[in-house]
Amino acid sequence: MIRTTLVTGGGSGIGKAVATLFAADGDHVFITGRRKDLLEAAAEEIAGTVTAIVCDHTDPDQLIALAAELPPTLDVLVNNAGGNRDMEGPPPAGLHELAARWRANLEANLLAAVLTTAAVDDRLAEGSAVVNIGSFAADRGAGSYGAAKAGMNTWNIFLAKQLGPRGITCNVVAPGYIDETEFFHGRKTPEFHAERVTETLVQRAGKPADIAEAVRFLASPAARHITCQVLRVDGGVIHSR
Ligand code: NDP
Repeated sequence: MIRTTLVTGGGSGIGKAVATLFAADGDHVFITGRRKDLLEAAAEEIAGTVTAIVCDHTDPDQLIALAAELPPTLDVLVNNAGGNRDMEGPPPAGLHELAARWRANLEANLLAAVLTTAAVDDRLAEGSAVVNIGSFAADRGAGSYGAAKAGMNTWNIFLAKQLGPRGITCNVVAPGYIDETEFFHGRKTPEFHAERVTETLVQRAGKPADIAEAVRFLASPAARHITCQVLRVDGGVIHSR
């Protein structure tokens, strides 16, 4: 049977790598994002059955429209869309700007996943898998972005309890520094890159495919008893105890 997989933010970076791997496995993969051109180019480029649907995952109306376009059953949901909306610039000038920046990161990284999962909940098949893309920022006190990803870890516990009776597993994959994505919007310096590599135990940056392989495992038949976990794929930067 052909699995159906939804990868949010599947037009670039980690999401595109996940979509590529799942499409290679024979899934019908749906990729979403806000940029139509990027999505259509990715769908064209990835070998296999890939359908591109434009959707802003922070917008309930667009999520309702997305759900109406999806097939009746989803086997895998990968909540990947996100990114740091507060990466540079001067400190916020006053409370209004502070509030706007926090709202932007909470919406983009936490609310987007919460709303998307709720929008497709009735389509998630028994025994399906939800994989949320978090971040090692959740464990590093990284302002509003880290708080949003830490919130995702806690929400994932709630979700795993809620969906567990249907045999649905819910896990977070928490990447460390992943090169070769649009995440840093061209603002990465060689010094920043070297610092991030040095703090890994394996002395290299992560690649989108490192994350995609972890997502593939968590969605596979081999992982049907693994739920409510945070799997760090960060080269050993954050140590488990
Ligand atoms: P990219 O910027 O390459 O990918 C993010 C994707 O999400 C884009 O395709 C973007 O497309 C889409 N997206 C963003 N916001 C929305 C939205 N509101 N609705 C729909 N689509 C959206 O970066 P990465 O691949 O690196 O990021 C993927 C995930 O990995 C993110 O959640 C990020 O926080 C996380 N992560 C990344 C790390 C890294 O070092 N790269 C480290 C830790 C976590 P569009 O703009 O067209 O909407």
